[in-house]
Amino acid sequence: MLLDIIDNLPRLRLSTAHFKLILWLLNQAGVQHVPSYDAFRKTQEELTSMCASEPVHCVSSVGNHFYVNDPRETIKQQFANPEVAQHFNFYPEETDESISEVWQAERWKEYDPSDLTPMYSSNGKQFYINEVAMLHDDRLVIPLLWVKRHGILHADCNMVDIDNDGRWIRDTTVHSIPAEQFVLNYLEVIGTLEIQKIPWKEMPNPKRKLVDEDEDLYVVMIPIWADDVSGNKSKQYNKHINLYMENSNLPARLLQQEYFVNFLSTSPHASSPEQFSEIRKIVNETQTNPIRCFNADTKRRCRVILRVPSLPADNPQQSEEASHIGGNSNKFCRRCNVGGTHEEKGSNEGYHSLFSVGISRSASQTIEILNKQLNTAMTGVASHVKAIQTETGVKDKVTEYWIDLLLKKANQIHKDNPRKAQEEVTTELTEWLESQPGDKTNPLLDIAGLDPTKDTPVEILHTILLGIVKYVWHMFHSKLSEEEQRVFTARLQSTDTDGLTIPPLRAAYIMQYRNGLIGKHFKALMQTMVFHVHDLVTPDEFEIIKAVGELGAMLWVPEIKDMEQYLRDLEVRIGNVLDAFSKVDPNKIACKIKLHLLPHIISDCRRYGPAIHNSTEIFECFNAVFRMCSILSNHQAPSRDIARKFASMDRLKHLLSGGYWFYKGEWIQSSPLVRRLLHTDVVIQQHLGWTPPPDIQYGKVIPLSKVKSTAIDWSQTCASSAYLQEIKSKIWNFNRAVIAQSGDVCVKGSWIAVEYGHNAKCRAIGRLTEILTPQVPVEGDPTFVLTMENFIVGEHRHPHFDMPVLRRPAEQDQLPCYLVIKPEEILFRLSVQHDCRLTGCKLTGSRVVLQEHQKTSQRMSVLSHVDDSSYIINTHALHNATLLRCFLPRPLIEPKYLIPDRQSFHFETATKYREARMAEIDDTAVSESTPSMPVKRRRKNKAMEGDQSEKSGQIGKRKRTEAADSTNDISENEDIV
Ligand SMILES: [Zn+2]
Ligand SMILES: [Zn+2]
Repeated sequence: MLLDIIDNLPRLRLSTAHFKLILWLLNQAGVQHVPSYDAFRKTQEELTSMCASEPVHCVSSVGNHFYVNDPRETIKQQFANPEVAQHFNFYPEETDESISEVWQAERWKEYDPSDLTPMYSSNGKQFYINEVAMLHDDRLVIPLLWVKRHGILHADCNMVDIDNDGRWIRDTTVHSIPAEQFVLNYLEVIGTLEIQKIPWKEMPNPKRKLVDEDEDLYVVMIPIWADDVSGNKSKQYNKHINLYMENSNLPARLLQQEYFVNFLSTSPHASSPEQFSEIRKIVNETQTNPIRCFNADTKRRCRVILRVPSLPADNPQQSEEASHIGGNSNKFCRRCNVGGTHEEKGSNEGYHSLFSVGISRSASQTIEILNKQLNTAMTGVASHVKAIQTETGVKDKVTEYWIDLLLKKANQIHKDNPRKAQEEVTTELTEWLESQPGDKTNPLLDIAGLDPTKDTPVEILHTILLGIVKYVWHMFHSKLSEEEQRVFTARLQSTDTDGLTIPPLRAAYIMQYRNGLIGKHFKALMQTMVFHVHDLVTPDEFEIIKAVGELGAMLWVPEIKDMEQYLRDLEVRIGNVLDAFSKVDPNKIACKIKLHLLPHIISDCRRYGPAIHNSTEIFECFNAVFRMCSILSNHQAPSRDIARKFASMDRLKHLLSGGYWFYKGEWIQSSPLVRRLLHTDVVIQQHLGWTPPPDIQYGKVIPLSKVKSTAIDWSQTCASSAYLQEIKSKIWNFNRAVIAQSGDVCVKGSWIAVEYGHNAKCRAIGRLTEILTPQVPVEGDPTFVLTMENFIVGEHRHPHFDMPVLRRPAEQDQLPCYLVIKPEEILFRLSVQHDCRLTGCKLTGSRVVLQEHQKTSQRMSVLSHVDDSSYIINTHALHNATLLRCFLPRPLIEPKYLIPDRQSFHFETATKYREARMAEIDDTAVSESTPSMPVKRRRKNKAMEGDQSEKSGQIGKRKRTEAADSTNDISENEDIV
C-alpha cells in the first residue's frame, strides 16, 4: 500500500529506475515481504480492475487516436467518496447574504427547472417537480422548482384543490414551501387517495423513467477546461492539448485545491474540438442513461446527469471554443458584436462602443453563419467565405476543414464541367457533405444548456494579470533609465509585505527578468507598484496604475457581499481602467481585446459569482503534474500512458479517502488504517494537494520557541502606560503571534483592525506591538495582554492615491497612543504602506547583499522612511479586501469615475486615435518608399509591447502568439501596406 502511494503522488512522479531503487533499498534495509517490481505492478493492475477504470480509446472523425478518462467514472468515484460526497450541493440557492458559490449566482437559475436536479429525496422517497405531492397538513401541491433559500431547501409550488365535484384545480400562484413539509409523494398520493385520475397528463415526471424506483436522480455541473501545454519541462515545445474538468457542485473553497481537479484527456495530435466531441457524446448520453452511482453520504444508490455550465480557458482557447475568429480581427470579441473595420472602430460612435458590451452573440446565430459559410464554399470562391468570416468574426476550426474540402471539390466540378449550374453543384455538394461522418461544426455548439458564446467567462489570470497588468508593467519599465530602474527596485524591495500574503518580493529579480515575469509577479506588482512609481511616471500613467490596482482588489475576492452594489462599483472601476488606458494610448482600446473584455466581467460575476471561480490558476498548477507524467511516459502512446497514470492516481486518492467500490455484490471501502492516512499524515496531504478543512482558532496566542523567548518588566512595557487596571505580575513574556478572527497570523509589527470594548462597540486600526503573557500566572491578572499603536483613519482620502490614510493621534484628538486589547478582538490583518511620496523618503539606507545565505561585500541601497506617522491603507491589497471594505466607512472607498463625461471624452480620444492612425499610415508609406528605414525594427518594437504571448513567462509553456495582442500590431500594419 505504501509503495502504491509513493508511486501515485501527483507532485512527485517517480521513474521506473527510481522505483526499482526504492525496492532495492527496502530489501537492503531488511524489510520483509518487499514485492518484486513486476509483482507490484500486477497488484496495482488488480486494484485498478477492482475499484478504478481504464482510459477509453477514442478515434476522432479525422482519424486521430487518443484516450479519455471517462468523466462518468470520475463522478462515480466522487459520489462513492465520503470525503467528497458530503459536500455536494445540488440545488440553486437564493440568498440575501454574501455570494460565494456558483449556485448562489444566476447561471444555475438560467436552466429550466427540469434540467436542474428535479427531485428531493427524503427517507427513500423522491419528490419530483411537476408532480402532485402532499404536505404534512394534507394540502396538495405541485412543486415547480427545488431551490435553497437561506440554506434551507424549499420548493416553489402551486396549490391544488379538489372541488365538490371531485375535480382537481390548480392555482397558479407560486408559494415557497420548505422541503421538510413534504410527506407523501406522487406515487403515494395516487395510492392512498383513490382519486379519479389526475387531470394532468404529464404526470408522473417523465424523468422517473430514467431511474429505478429506489434511486435518486441528480444533476452535476462540470465546467470543462482546455489548454495546450508542453509535455516537456525544457524549452523544446512538445505540444499537447489537455482537457480537465471539475465538479462545480462542490464548494469553491474545495475547488481551489488540486485534489479536486480531474483529468479528462490529452493528445499531442487531436485538437480540442476532437476531444470535446468525445466528451460531448458522454455528456449527452447521461441525459438518457444517467450514471449509476453509490452516494457515500446518503448510502443510497443514485443516477447522475451531467451538464456543462461553462468553459474556463485562456482567451485564444475560448475564442476557438466559441467558433470565433480570434482577438486580432475586426470583430474581435467572442462574446458580442462590437468592432468592425478600422474606419468603423475609429468613428466617434464606434470607438465609444468599444468601452461597453455590444449586442450579444449566440450559438444559434453562430451555427447559422457557419452554415452560410459552408454554402458559400460550394461556389468555390474562397474570398467570399473569408469575407463572411471577417464581417461576422465567426470562424470555426471544424467547419474550416469542410470548407477547404468543399472549395476544392467545387472548383474541380467547375473545371470538369464549366457549364454546370451553381444550383446543381450546390445540391450535389450538400448531399455529399451530409453523407460524411463526423461533426461539421464545433461540437460545443451542440451541448444542451451550453452556449459557448456566452459561457466562456472572462478568465482573470490571463486577462488581468497576464493582460492588463502586463501592459501596465511594460509601459512602465520600458521607459526607465538605468538609474530609475535602480530607484524603483530599491523602493519595491522596501515594500512592507505584511498583510499581503504574497511570497517574498524579489525586486532585483523582477527588474532583471522584467520581460519574462509570470502570474505571481504580476499579482505582487499589481498590489504594490503604485506606492513606488512617483517621479518615474507621468500623471496619466499613474492613473492607469492606480485604476488597475483598484480593479484587481475588487476581482480577487472569494465572496460578494452585496451583489448590486458590487456590480455598480465594478462598472466604475472597469470604466476607469479603460479611460485611463485610452488617455495614454487611444490605440490600445481599438486593438487589445483584453481591454474590451473587461466590461463582460460584470455579467460574468452576476452569472457565476466571484471572478476567481473562473480563474484557471489551479488548472495551470495541475499542468505541472501533467508535465511530470508526460516526461516519464515512454512517448510510444503518450495519451494512453498519461491517462492511465491519472486514473491510477485517482484510484489512490479514492482508496485513501475511504471511497467505496462495488465488490462481490456490495459496496466496500478500504480499512480504517488506510483511511486514517489522509486525515492525519501531513506529508500525504501535501502530496495529494489536499487541505483539511481549516479550523480557525481565533484568539489563540502562539508562544515563541524556548530559545528565542524573552521577558520584560511590566513597567517597561507599552501596555503599562495604557492598561487601566492594577497588574500584579511583574515579569511578562513575549509571544510570537496571535490568530485573528479571519484566521490571519498576526505578529509584532502587523497592521490590524480591531473591535474592542463593551459589546465590541469601538473600532480601530493600528500596529501590533506587544503580545504578552505573565511569566507566572497570578490570579486576577489577564492571561494575555496585547498592545497596539493607535492610529486614526483620516477623514479624507489621500490626494494622490485615493486611499484612506492613517495618522497618529494628535493632542487635540485626546486619544491614547496605545490600546490594550484582548487576543479575540483582532478582526483581520491589513496591508499598510508608508507615504513615501508625501514625506519624500530617500534611498539613503543600505543593506548587505546576501548570496547563498552568506553576506557579501556588496551593499544595496534601501529606502529609509522619513517618519513613522504617515501611512496609507493599501486598498490594492487582495488579502482581506472584502473585510477591509466592510470595515471602512463607505465614503473612503466608494469608487468614482475618473472622467465624469465619458462619452465626450471617448469622442475626443477617437479623434486622437484617427490622427495617430493617419500619421502611422503616412509614416509607413514613407518607410516603404525608402527601404533603408527600419520598418522591421519598428514592428519588432511594437511586437515587444507587453504580451507576445500571455504565457511566454510560464515555464515549459509554448510560445504561442496570443492572437489578440502582439501579432495584432503587426498584422494591422500589414493591412495598411
Ligand atoms: Zn464584447
Ligand atoms: Zn517612506
